[in-house]
Amino acid sequence: MIIVLKSGAADAEVDDVCRRITAMGYAPHTIRGTLRTVIGAVGDDRGKDALLSLESLECVETVTPILKPYKLASREVRQEPTVITVGGVTIGGPAIVVMAGPCSVESRVQLLEAAAKVKAAGARVLRGGAFKPRTSPYAFQGLEDEGLKLLAEARRETGLPVVTEVMEPDKVDVVAEHADILQIGARNVQNFSLLRRVGEAGKPVLLKRGMATSIQEWLLSAEYILASGNPNVILCERGIRTFETATRYTLDLNAVPVVKRLSHLPIMVDPSHGTGHWEYVEAMAMAGVAAGADGLIIEVHPRPEEALSDGPQSLKPERFAALMEKVRRVARAVDRDA
Ligand code: PEP
Ligand code: MN
Repeated sequence: MIIVLKSGAADAEVDDVCRRITAMGYAPHTIRGTLRTVIGAVGDDRGKDALLSLESLECVETVTPILKPYKLASREVRQEPTVITVGGVTIGGPAIVVMAGPCSVESRVQLLEAAAKVKAAGARVLRGGAFKPRTSPYAFQGLEDEGLKLLAEARRETGLPVVTEVMEPDKVDVVAEHADILQIGARNVQNFSLLRRVGEAGKPVLLKRGMATSIQEWLLSAEYILASGNPNVILCERGIRTFETATRYTLDLNAVPVVKRLSHLPIMVDPSHGTGHWEYVEAMAMAGVAAGADGLIIEVHPRPEEALSDGPQSLKPERFAALMEKVRRVARAVDRDA
C-alpha cells in the first residue's frame, strides 16, 4: 500500500503513521519527495484492509494499493528518480557515469595501470573482479581477498571509488570493507539469501540482470535488496540469452526505457558482456547512452591478449579513451552531462 501524506505533514505525524503501520505487521519505508512524503507499507497482502483505515487520519491524503508485484522498486511508490552518491560520484543524475577496469584483478601492476588509464580517459568508478563466477571450475577464479586489497590500493592511488562482485553471503562484509559498490553478477541475480545480505550491508549495490531473467523478475530481485533496508540499487543490463550466436549475449536495450518507465532506480548498460567482442563495445556503449542509460560499465585491460578472463571483449586503454570521446558526444546530444 502507498500512504500519501498531505503536503506539510509534520515529522511527528510521519512517525505516528509509521508506528501504526509497524503495529499492523507491515514494514514502513518513508520516501520524502520535494512536494510530499509517501510511506510504502510493505508486507503480506492479507492485512491490507487495516491499512485502508489510515485514510481517516488528518495528515493522510490517500491510501492506495501498489499494483505491481515489486513495490519499493516501482514508480508507483516513488516518482522521482533515485540518485545515488558514492565516493563523490553521483549516479542517476544528469551526468553519465562510466565505470571501467579489468574483468579480473590479476596483479598489482595490471590493476594500477588499468586504473590510471581509465581515470585519465574519464572513468569515474574503477571496476575489477576479485571473486570471479567462472563457467568452468578450472578457469581462473580470481585473486579473492588479495584482489580486494589491490582494489583498495588502486582507490587510494587514483581516488576512484571501486565496484567489485560479491558471490557469497559470507563474503559480503569483507567485500563491503574494501569496495564502494557491491556487484551482484548475472548468475546470482536470484540468489535471494545473497540479495538479502547485501541489502543489510549499507553500501550501494550494482544488480546485474540475469541472462535469462525477465525485467519483472529482475525488479523483484531489486525489491529483495530494497526491502532489506538498502535503497541504493543500481540496475545493469548486461545482455540476455537468445538464439543469436554472432555475439556472446544479446544486449537488450529495450530494458532501458522499460525500466525507466517501471522503476525509479538508475540503470547502467554493460556493452562488454552484452556483446562479448571488443569491436562492438563502442557502438553499443553509444547506443546505451542514446537509449537513456545513466551510465556504462566497460572492461578495459592494458594487454587484453594476456587477460585471464574476458580478454576478447576487453578494450585497450587507447580504444577506451576514443570510446569516451564518442560517448560524451552522444551524451550531449541526448541532453546529459558527460
Ligand atoms: C563481470 O562483470 O565480469 C561479470 C562476470 O559480469 P556478469 O555477471 O554480467 O556476467
Ligand atoms: Mn567479465
